Amino acid sequence: MNIQTVGVIGAGVMGKGVAQNLAQTKHKVVLIDISEDILEKAKSDITNNLRFQGFFNKSKQVDNYEEIIANIQFTTDYGSLDAVDFVIENVIEKWDVKENVYHDLDRLCKKDCIFACNTSAISITRLGSATNRPSQVIGTHFMNPVPLKEMVEVIRGFHTSEDTIVTTKNLLKQMDKDCVVVNDMPGFVSNRVLMLTVNEAIFLVMDNVASAEDVDKIFRSCFGHKMGPLETADLIGLDTILYSLDVLYESYNDPKFRPCPLLKKMVDAGLYGQKNGKGFYNHGNN
Ligand code: NAD
Repeated sequence: MNIQTVGVIGAGVMGKGVAQNLAQTKHKVVLIDISEDILEKAKSDITNNLRFQGFFNKSKQVDNYEEIIANIQFTTDYGSLDAVDFVIENVIEKWDVKENVYHDLDRLCKKDCIFACNTSAISITRLGSATNRPSQVIGTHFMNPVPLKEMVEVIRGFHTSEDTIVTTKNLLKQMDKDCVVVNDMPGFVSNRVLMLTVNEAIFLVMDNVASAEDVDKIFRSCFGHKMGPLETADLIGLDTILYSLDVLYESYNDPKFRPCPLLKKMVDAGLYGQKNGKGFYNHGNN
């Protein structure tokens, strides 16, 4: 199936990137969030990203950004999803919010529409159980920033069908993405490891072993990582890191996933990282 129109749910860090990537690769997009203010900010952020992404990667330069933006319908109306072929869901990493979203999607979308979950850690099998179409539910764990990252971790839920995997791979190819398919367990491959590393790096700062800058420097200069774990945490969003650790802790009942108290304190203080200007680093006013 050649996917033409895609519903993108959630216009935060990831939803904006997914919508932009789809629009740039000539798909029609219905981008949904809960308020007009959020959608307006999403439109202006996507426009700025399109304008400036050539500065970071010459091959990604675009001149026709108005045409690209016109491929995206910005709306709070879930009813606009009635004709979409495929949905990529990117709402906040909280089970109760996602569960309600999947109930709505199942009720409103066409019978053959596939639901791809962009989640950091929640089991795809569990998300599939919130619908009457678990064979058409799959995980697509995109990397941030979506338009610049070529690899997607695709997760096969317990009931995910081969047809769903093939259609998803085709759509990702249309989006100029490559993918690795893995089996379902909370956190999958990437975040079962990354979240532990980030959390332990935050414990190092809390225990006053080293500053955030020095922790990151060690990972960059000793291990050749492009970014250290705390720069990565700021990029992902400290709120999303905390919610993902909560999911892992609850899913495995294993204390190794308990979120660092400093992380909780920073999230309580409204320090979310790049998305709102301050986390372990200052990112200017956002
Ligand atoms: P975010 O907080 O930036 O955005 C979440 C968006 O969902 C917000 O704009 C919010 O208003 C919206 N939302 C909440 N309830 C909604 C509803 N009922 N209907 C429509 N929209 C709703 O979070 P994010 O970083 O974009 O993460 C989204 C998902 O992607 C999460 O599950 C996260 O774990 C996952 N993820 C995040 C990253 C990352 O680097 N940030 C990477 C991969 C996957």
